[in-house]
Amino acid sequence: MTNLLDLAPDALTGYFADRGEKPFHARQVSRWIHQRFVADFGAMSDLPRALRERFMAEAVVQGPTVVRDTTAADGTRKWLLDAGNGNAVESVYIPEDDRGTLCISSQAGCALDCAFCATGKQGFNRNLTTAEIIGQLWHANRMLIADGATGPWIEHGRPPITNVVMMGMGEPLANFDNVVPALELMLDDNAYGLSRRRVTLSTSGLVPVIDRLRDACPVALAVSLHAPNDALRDRLVPINRKHPLADLMAACLRYLERAPRDFVTFEYVMLDGVNDQPQHAAELIALTRDVPCKFNLIPFNPFPGTEFAVTPRARIVDFQKALQDAGRVATIRKTRGDDIDAACGQLAGQVQDRTKRRLATRIVSVAAHATRTAH
Ligand code: SAH
Ligand code: SF4
Repeated sequence: MTNLLDLAPDALTGYFADRGEKPFHARQVSRWIHQRFVADFGAMSDLPRALRERFMAEAVVQGPTVVRDTTAADGTRKWLLDAGNGNAVESVYIPEDDRGTLCISSQAGCALDCAFCATGKQGFNRNLTTAEIIGQLWHANRMLIADGATGPWIEHGRPPITNVVMMGMGEPLANFDNVVPALELMLDDNAYGLSRRRVTLSTSGLVPVIDRLRDACPVALAVSLHAPNDALRDRLVPINRKHPLADLMAACLRYLERAPRDFVTFEYVMLDGVNDQPQHAAELIALTRDVPCKFNLIPFNPFPGTEFAVTPRARIVDFQKALQDAGRVATIRKTRGDDIDAACGQLAGQVQDRTKRRLATRIVSVAAHATRTAH
């Protein structure tokens, strides 16, 4: 059985062509799946009956299995999704006044081991498939519609998710071959039809793969900078030892030649006493002098066992002001979904936490049992 969620637009057309079916039907099926969030071929009423029956025998639209579904007081909603073998990943819906953003995961765990990141501390488990990546968007839209989510854009007939950020668990550029087909689906007019500006990929700085993304599928780019010099960044973001700052800045400039936005977003996590001093701001200004960019200062989200603490608010504001005084755009990220651990760096999923893992397995088996008994 082929899971049609695994197929990028071209691959879906190819799948139809291989079976002697017309490209037109591939577009119809794509719209049923990715615009109306229908999984049942029998319900795809404008398809010839013979085609529907053929698909029922050969293919599925298999979305993620939800292990846990939590909504915070501010409306932020987090889904914990089964990734097999006792692992789970998370996606987070963040509603705002004029948009709905989904934060998507790309890997179960992460191999890059940034010093301040809960996902990194779990180690790497595996890459998510294209179906598991796009399935997060498919599933979130489907659930939010079913639950009657509101928002001015939804009232105007748009789907709940208007923006995607690849800022969940994992390093998306370390899973390029599965991430790019998912990005293509996000952008495709017969699928989600999002503009490139509304899809942001965040990377810790895999320089050669930034170039590949530029050529294959340029979307808005965010780079996790977190330190203004190589000595400090080597420690905080270990991939820096392989791709140091000068190379990273050059890659950002090359990316901007094709990027949908005319700036790169630099993410900078505020770690008390580590990277938040006036001299760090000065170094940062010098480092990025030639790179059109905006800064997003992220208050560090502590997690059990971390050696770091968050910079006090007043010092974050001082840091922001130093950047602004140098003519730079710098924002401080609002923390959302605090009561359900939905913030950056807290998307721990359940890769290594064995106590939680046992609990999750139990929830899954209880849910499976409930489904079985309901039929
Ligand atoms: N791997 C990619 C994307 C996922 S992380 C990357 O590193 O860019 C998304 C953002 O959250 C990154 O900027 C990351 O550095 C940041 N982050 C990780 N742990 C954090 C924490 N504990 N507190 C605040 N931000 C964190
Ligand atoms: Fe991986 Fe990003 Fe976490 Fe670094 S910050 S360990 S790259 S998920």
